[in-house]
Parts: sequence; structure tokens; C-alpha cells
Amino acid sequence: MDKIEFKDGRFTVSDMPSILYALGDGIGPEITRASMGVIDTAVEKAYKGKKKIEWREVSAGEEAEKKAGNRLPEETLEAIKEHRLLFKGPLETPVGKGFRSLNVTIRLMMDLYANIRPVKYFKGLESPLRDPEKVDLVVFRENTDDLYTGIEWQANSNEAKKLKAFLNDSMNVRISDDSGVGIKPMSRMKTQRITRMAIKYALQNKRRSVTIMHKGNIMKYTEGAFREWAYETAVNEFRDDIVTEEELYSNYNGTMPSGKLLINDRIADNMFQQVIAKPSLYDVILAPNLNGDYISDAAGALIGDIGVLGSANIGDTGGMFEAVHGTAPKYAGKNVANPMGMIKAGTLMLEFIGWTEAKDIIDNALAKAISTKKVTQDIARFMGVEPLGTKEFAETIMGFIRE
Ligand code: NAP
Repeated sequence: MDKIEFKDGRFTVSDMPSILYALGDGIGPEITRASMGVIDTAVEKAYKGKKKIEWREVSAGEEAEKKAGNRLPEETLEAIKEHRLLFKGPLETPVGKGFRSLNVTIRLMMDLYANIRPVKYFKGLESPLRDPEKVDLVVFRENTDDLYTGIEWQANSNEAKKLKAFLNDSMNVRISDDSGVGIKPMSRMKTQRITRMAIKYALQNKRRSVTIMHKGNIMKYTEGAFREWAYETAVNEFRDDIVTEEELYSNYNGTMPSGKLLINDRIADNMFQQVIAKPSLYDVILAPNLNGDYISDAAGALIGDIGVLGSANIGDTGGMFEAVHGTAPKYAGKNVANPMGMIKAGTLMLEFIGWTEAKDIIDNALAKAISTKKVTQDIARFMGVEPLGTKEFAETIMGFIRE
């Protein structure tokens, strides 16, 4: 059993890496177990026993609370730091009260600064678009900055009163007494590193453009700075590989020179209408935390079902791979949930460790399941076919893989 190491700016992964998994809450245990079966089958098919994942379970969420009185026990956090990769089922987070999101806690602890969500149409899904085949986007959402740093106070708290008094007395800014307050930090270093990752990804995967999504017209020193720092990183660090939109018109008469990556930007509200009205014009979207959260789901909806999407949270110390959807509590324990989001998260993990043959095998099997209408109830109800259960769907995928 080998731990994944990080040396000289690179991860080293043996043929028998030890990878952690947490089953999660609600539908988590069913879909996580089903997905691990699919991943193992694809790895076996691709490498005939020469490569194998050694799964190790860690406890998190409701089950950990019952056992250890803590939703994120210290030993789970230690194991994540040591093993670096976590394949994680969805975890419950209460709205407006209670404990802080466990997902956010893990992301911040590991400094997993990029949330990467590929959104590509599966032929056969019911999409709200006329030409959903045109959707092939990858959202890079900054994960550690912005309004998600958790600096906020309730309207009547002493902290909020102190902050409002300071703003009033020292900065000549008046905030009404009944307001809660939050702080939106945006860092140059954090913008630079996510930009670097998005551009490297775009270049390695031969994507056409990276679009910076921001609301810099209104929030000039946070969102506007994100735009400025992202361009600055692109121009200073990738000069030979990129062309900015301004240069495209001033130097190239509007025609992209071949082999170059276009860097452009769109104001957040425009970005939403653009991806809906003209999805084929967009490729990699680079966004700060809050914009990235919104656009990820909106982009997901374009292909008809965010239940089929996975996401990767990556940093320089490791990664966490999960479905985009949550715990869907009403379906928990009923063997009806769709495990595709978790399976797609598994393909992102395989890509991260460089086992792309196994990833491709899974992608082909998923495409075949949808095109032959072998699907769970969430998709079956639109296709008008008999649904498969969670386990039966996973067995069907494993059958396609073994064929
Ligand atoms: P949700 O769990 O994603 O469920 C919303 C709806 O989406 C479900 O009622 C169901 O729709 C559908 N759905 C989601 N996943 C599905 C699947 N695998 N198979 C079939 N249908 C699926 O969102 P939520 O109800 O807003 O959140 C519930 C809890 O999950 C909250 O505590 C939230 O904080 C947490 N959450 C966790 C994560 C994470 O761990 N990364 C992410 C998001 C949310 P229908 O009712 O139309 O069938």
C-alpha cells in the first residue's frame, strides 16, 4: 500500500496507491460503493492487475458523529493530510445555522484551491437546449478565497456592531443597524495560482480559450482585480502560448492564430446568457469562488442533469473528488439514486493520477448506458423507460466494461 507523494512540484503515484474514501450521508454510501466497483473494474480491464487502487475508508458526516461524536474526526483529517487523495460521497450541510460545511473545511485544510468541473453533453440526455452537443465546458472555480472564507457576522452580534461602528467612525461608511455583514477578500496570489492551473490545463488539453468571469464593473477591487491579475498571469507567464481578446483584434484582425490559446473575459451576468445562448463559444471558464459556484450549476443544467456530473478539488497538496449533487435524502437507502456523478468524479481522479486508459473505458461505458437507455429513475422518467436501481446500473456499467 503506497501513499501518494508530492515532491518537486509533482505528485508521484505508484501502481498500488492507497486512496481514501468517505461514504458520505444520504444516498452517499450507495453511490460511493457502486462507483468504487465501477472504478476497480475499469482499472482491472485497463491494466490487467498491474495497477490497483488500495481503498481505505475514513469516517465523516452523520455516521462519524454517531460513532465518535464529531462529523469530521481528527483521525480523518490526519489521514487526508497523509494520503492526499479523497474520494468522497456527498455530506450534509444545514442551511443558515449549525456546523460549517465539512466540504469547505476539507478544502480549506488541504488548500484545494481549484474546483474543476467538466460539463459535456451525453448523447441521449434530455437537455433544455436545442443543440446540447455544443456544450463542452470546463469550469475552474477558485475555491479558497472570496465570500467563502467565512468572515461574516449576524446582524445583532457584538462583532457586527463593532465592525459597523469602525466603518462608520473611521471610514465614513454607514451600514444600517439591522444588517448582517460579510467580508469579500480577493488575493493576488490565489488568483494567480488558479489562473496558472486553468491555463496549463487548457494548453495540455488543446482547448481553444480561457474566459475570465467576473463582476469587476461593480466590485472593482475584488472581482475587477481578479480579472486584472488573471490577465497579468496569462501575459507574464504564458506569453508565447496565449493571445488576449484585445490583441486578437488589434494584432490579428479578429482571426485566431493557430496553436494559440485565447484569453478573454466576460462580466458575470453576460457570462450566464452567453453560455446558454452560445455555448459553443466557450471552453474553459475561470471564475472566483461565488461566480464559479453559480456558473458551475448553470453550465451543468445545460446538459440536462447535474446528477451526472463530477468535480475535482485540486491543490498542490492533493485532491478531493466528489459528485456535484448533494445527499438527496429522500432517496437514501432506496437503491434508486444515480451513481453517475460519483462515477464521473472517479474518472477525474483517474485522470489526476494519470490512469487515463481506465478513465476512457468508464466514459465509453457511461455513454453506452445512456444511448441504450439503461439508466436510473432520474433519467428514465424523461426517456420513458423502466429504470434500473443504483446497484443494477453499476452492474450494467461493469458488464459493458468487461465486454
Ligand atoms: P441534492 O442533494 O443534490 O438533491 C436535490 C435533488 O436533485 C434531489 O431531490 C433529486 O431530484 C436530485 N438528485 C441529486 N442527486 C441525485 C442522484 N444521485 N440521483 C437521483 N437524483 C438526484 O441537493 P439538496 O437537496 O439541495 O441538498 C441536500 C444536502 O446535500 C444538503 O445538506 C446540502 O448541503 C448537501 N450537499 C452536499 C454536497 C457535497 O457534499 N459536495 C453538494 C451539494 C449539496 P428530484 O427530487 O427531482 O428527483
